[in-house]
Amino acid sequence: MKIDRQSDGTYPAYAWPGGYPLYYLDREDNILCPTCASQETNPVEGQVYYEGSTLQCDECFATIESAYGDPEAEQTEPAEDEPAEDDYTTSDYCTFYQYGKLAVSTEADHWQTAIAAHMDQQQMWPNVWHISDHGNAHLLSVE
Ligand SMILES: [Zn+2]
Repeated sequence: MKIDRQSDGTYPAYAWPGGYPLYYLDREDNILCPTCASQETNPVEGQVYYEGSTLQCDECFATIESAYGDPEAEQTEPAEDEPAEDDYTTSDYCTFYQYGKLAVSTEADHWQTAIAAHMDQQQMWPNVWHISDHGNAHLLSVE
């Protein structure tokens, strides 16, 4: 998008309203920080940088961080309130899934016994989660 130079002749570093970070592209699509863009004599395109990994200015190597960070970087961090792949998940207390496959099928009244037996058999004691209709995970106590 077209960004106008400010009264002092420089390009703004942030978009208003919102205060979102801006970066600039020259004619060759080089990424420019606001400082380097301000020194360009050719017109540059401004971009609001909402989301993504940190960019680097092709001129001075200054970093340009996005407003909301890198969503993919966040996904790779293990979330504490999310089931891991080797955890058991159930939505009905009868069928329990592990590694995306059915691991235990039991009666709801006896699920703790069935899960405990399955864990002992596997010699693994991961967490057990109940997945609600809305997709929210709640940690279950097996004891
Ligand atoms: Zn720069």
